[in-house]
Amino acid sequence: MPGFAARQIADWLYKKEISSIEEMTNLSKKMRELLSNDYEIGLSGPVSFSESKDGTKKYLYRVLTDKFIETAYIPEDDRATICVSSQAGCKMGCVFCMTGKQGFQGNLSSNEILNQFRSLPEFKQLTNMVFMGMGEPLDNLTEVLKSLEILTGEWGYGWSPSRITVSTVGMVKKIPEFLEKSRCHLAVSLHSPFDEERKQLMPIQKTNTVKEVIDLIKSYGFTGQRRVSFEYILFKGINDSPRHVKELVRILNGIRCRINIIRFHSIPGSDLRSPDVKATIAFREALNAKGMIATIRSSRGVDINAACGLLSTLEQNKG
Ligand code: SF4
Repeated sequence: MPGFAARQIADWLYKKEISSIEEMTNLSKKMRELLSNDYEIGLSGPVSFSESKDGTKKYLYRVLTDKFIETAYIPEDDRATICVSSQAGCKMGCVFCMTGKQGFQGNLSSNEILNQFRSLPEFKQLTNMVFMGMGEPLDNLTEVLKSLEILTGEWGYGWSPSRITVSTVGMVKKIPEFLEKSRCHLAVSLHSPFDEERKQLMPIQKTNTVKEVIDLIKSYGFTGQRRVSFEYILFKGINDSPRHVKELVRILNGIRCRINIIRFHSIPGSDLRSPDVKATIAFREALNAKGMIATIRSSRGVDINAACGLLSTLEQNKG
């Protein structure tokens, strides 16, 4: 096919939002036939959803033939965020996470990542995207980078990279490639500043220490539009003491960043609990008093199994 057809095809797929190759009417019949022989549009809508009182929706998509992943739609006053999954299940085994308990079931293709966005009923309302659903995005970096290229390319969906955040547990070997090949924001899941305590929560700490991650981030130097943030799920009696505040301030010293404090959604079979609202605010204020930018992420969708992995586990168990 002639080179210019690539631009035409991208235009149909990402700007005109068609749902069949037949609709690409500026391609010759022969070209459409050629395309149809080997490709399909690849759209497939969610199989079910639940809606919270606060407007948050959680969609279930079928992937990899017989697996399920979750995608969240989170409307707020001035924005509407989609939270996408990058893998079915996850290898990382974080003890507080239901997806971690599912084990790894497979990497999503860039198509399966983008389908969550494009097939979302609220697609047209979306203003922001976070890769914070099921899976560790940097463990499926090739497909995640492909999806980011299509999302941010002027020939693709044309989104500004500043509207997209990719999270990681801190895969030291993959972060440099992510930083080099995309301009999207990075969010690092921290959850404890202490080696031994973090190991208990996140097995990744055994091979990729938070010190290595922070040294790497310091050497990269986040400037301009690009931001780094640290996610911190607060667990009662585990990581919510003044000692933790002091160490967080020490290790993040010199990094222009934000700490997102997240209230924990309980999961079955775990004793971990969230501190109450008052203690959560006190933790944030202690960080603020030390000059850190720290905010509490509002809890959304608590009434619809908001903890990521719960809904798909229920669906999986049905089979
Ligand atoms: S928190 Fe993220 S990285 Fe950890 S097990 Fe769950 S999905 Fe995987």
